[in-house]
Amino acid sequence: MTGIARLNDIGIGVCPGHPVPVPFTAVIIQGCTMTISEGMPVSNSNSILMCTCGHTAIPTMFSSNVIAEGGGVHRLGDLGVNNAGGTYVISLAGATVIAGG
Ligand SMILES: [Zn+2]
Repeated sequence: MTGIARLNDIGIGVCPGHPVPVPFTAVIIQGCTMTISEGMPVSNSNSILMCTCGHTAIPTMFSSNVIAEGGGVHRLGDLGVNNAGGTYVISLAGATVIAGG
């Protein structure tokens, strides 16, 4: 089990959608509206992330049995993909509220 990701938590990856692949940081910019963890809205499978390279991203890996507002929670170490095909891994998330599945 790992920490639940929340609004403003980040993932890191490399984006192939540029003349030369560029490293990016993906910031969770949309989370749940009423589910709060460690003071911030929880991120789930429906969250949207904004990448520093200019692309947007969505979670592709999340809990299958810890559900918040209809979507599995996004966690430290989970993966996602941006709209240029770049993958990210969540590298910063909540430290004390964890979820498995
Ligand atoms: Zn990009």
